[in-house]
Amino acid sequence: MHDHRRLGRELDLFDTDPLMGAGLPYWLPDGALIRHTLEEYVRDLERAAGYRHVYSPVLGKRELYEISGHWDHYSDDMFPPMEPGGQGSEQLVLRPSLCPHHALIYRSRSRSYRELPLRIAELGAMYRSEPSGVLGGLTRVRAITLNDAHIFCTLDQAVAEARSALALIARAYADLGIHAVRHRLSLPGEGGKYVADPELWSRAGALLREVLDGAGVAYEEAAGEAAFYGPKIDVQIVDPAGREATLSTVQIDFHQPARFGLHYIGADGARHRPVMVHRSVIGSVERAVAHLLEEHGGAFPAWLAPVQLAVLPVSEAQEEAAADLARRAETAGLRVRLADAGQGSLGARVRAARLVPYQAVIGEREAAAGSAAVRLRDGRRLGEPAVGDLVRRIAARVAARGTELWD
Ligand SMILES: [Zn+2]
Repeated sequence: MHDHRRLGRELDLFDTDPLMGAGLPYWLPDGALIRHTLEEYVRDLERAAGYRHVYSPVLGKRELYEISGHWDHYSDDMFPPMEPGGQGSEQLVLRPSLCPHHALIYRSRSRSYRELPLRIAELGAMYRSEPSGVLGGLTRVRAITLNDAHIFCTLDQAVAEARSALALIARAYADLGIHAVRHRLSLPGEGGKYVADPELWSRAGALLREVLDGAGVAYEEAAGEAAFYGPKIDVQIVDPAGREATLSTVQIDFHQPARFGLHYIGADGARHRPVMVHRSVIGSVERAVAHLLEEHGGAFPAWLAPVQLAVLPVSEAQEEAAADLARRAETAGLRVRLADAGQGSLGARVRAARLVPYQAVIGEREAAAGSAAVRLRDGRRLGEPAVGDLVRRIAARVAARGTELWD
C-alpha cells in the first residue's frame, strides 16, 4: 500500500523539520519540480477557461474576517491575531481562506454587467490552526496552498459557471490520472457553525442540484459537510487505505456578496448584487501531490515526472552517444537523467530508473545506428527508434499530458 509520507521521503520530494514546526513541510528540488509543473498546468487550464490570476496577501485585518463571517463561525481553526503595533493596536490574522481578499478585489472597482462573469483565480497560501498531534505528511498541514477561484456573476450565469467548473475538474482529473469516487452535495447540519438564513441555504442548494443534474453526475447528499456560509459540491477521492477526502469543490454563494455589499451596474442602470461561485479544480497543492503519489505509487504521469527520460549507455564506449541523446532531449524541453556505466551494472541502473517513464538503452549496435533501445516504465518495449524520432515522440506525448505513456 502506498503511503505518500514514505514515498515523499524515499523519492526526496518533501520533508519536515521539528524546528520549522509540525504541519509545515518543505519541498525538495524534485518535489518542487512536480509542484511547479502542476501549478503551471492549472494556471494554463484556467487562463484558457477565461480566468484572470491575481496575488493577494496571506495576512488581513481581523475586521476583514469579521465581515466575511470567519471570525464568528471559523475562528477555532484560525491562528490567534498578531498586534504588530503593540497591544491594543490593529490586529492582523493569517488568512483562513482567500474569499474575503477576492471579494475586496472585486469591490475595488465599479463593475458593469458587461464584465460578468468575472473570474478571479489565485494559487495562494492560507493557514489552519490544528493541534500538532494530528499533523503529518502533506494532508494534515498548517500551511495550505489552495488552487482557488471566485467567479462573480449574475444569478442567471451561476449554474453555467458552476457546471463549467465541474467540467474543468473532470478535465484535470483525466490529465492527472485522478479518479473521483463520488460527488457529494454537502448541506448544513445541526449546530451553530452555519450562518442562519434558511432562504439562502435552500436557494443555493437548489442551484447546486441543478448543476449536478444538468451535468449528469450522480451524487449523494450529506448533512453537516457544508461551508459555514453555504452548501457545496465536493468531489471525493479515496486513499489506498480506503479513507475518503474532498479534493475539489464548487459552491454557489449568496452570503459573502451580501456581507461585502458587492454590486454591479446592470443593463437597466441600477445596482444589482452578484453571485459568487467558489471553486477549486485540484484543491490544495499539498493534498493533490499527496494523492498523486498514492494513486500512482510514485510513477507520475510522464508530463509531471521529475525525470522523464533515463539514458543508459551499456558501457563507457557509448557514453558519447548517450550524452548526445540527453542533450537533444533537454533541448526539446524534456527532463533527462544520464546514468553512465560508472554508476553500476546496467541492471542496477535500469532498476534505479524504474519510476522514470522512458528508458533509453544505448549499446554498441544502437550507437552505430544512431538509435536507442526504448523501454517504457510499464515494461513495454518499443524497438530501436532513431534518437531524433524518439525525442520528438516523447516530447509530443508529454505535451499532450494525460496518463498514456505511448500512442
Ligand atoms: Zn472562496
